[in-house]
Amino acid sequence: MVHEIRQVGDPVLREKARALSPEEILDPATQELIAAMRETMYAAPGVGLAAPQIGVPLQIAVIEDKAEYIARIPPEESALRLRTPVPFHVVINPVLTIEGDASVEFAEGCLSVRGMSAVVPRALRVRVDCLNESAEPVVIHAEGWYARILQHEVDHLLGTLYLDRMKPGTLKG
Ligand code: ZN
Repeated sequence: MVHEIRQVGDPVLREKARALSPEEILDPATQELIAAMRETMYAAPGVGLAAPQIGVPLQIAVIEDKAEYIARIPPEESALRLRTPVPFHVVINPVLTIEGDASVEFAEGCLSVRGMSAVVPRALRVRVDCLNESAEPVVIHAEGWYARILQHEVDHLLGTLYLDRMKPGTLKG
């Protein structure tokens, strides 16, 4: 089921989402929620979606960056952004750690800030410790655009939007 994506101004986007127990993750209702998030992300379309964006304050995000999306931007831009396909996966109860000192600045958008973008500095490399949809522990090491997506989605679970991290004066419609 495709859900409406909540827009900035909606207080649910500013709440800290709650972590789930392994039992809750395996509950059919949570599995249905994950399926609905996946469908909503594809319909948007977007490369990530956090549960608060459909009004559910739980620490769940879905991510997928498809080759067909990347093919729509010039190859030199995808190379500069270190943007490569990322298969579908689910990130639950994430703890994000920045790895190294390198950061990069690129324009970024959000399905909850429709029609806008801004330049956002982000760490080049991150590590995320989380659970997957089977409640199994997963360690993700990511760089480039994938690292940016992870930082963006984990921010959503903390009630933070890119608007809080953007370079002043770079917001564009
Ligand atoms: Zn977003």
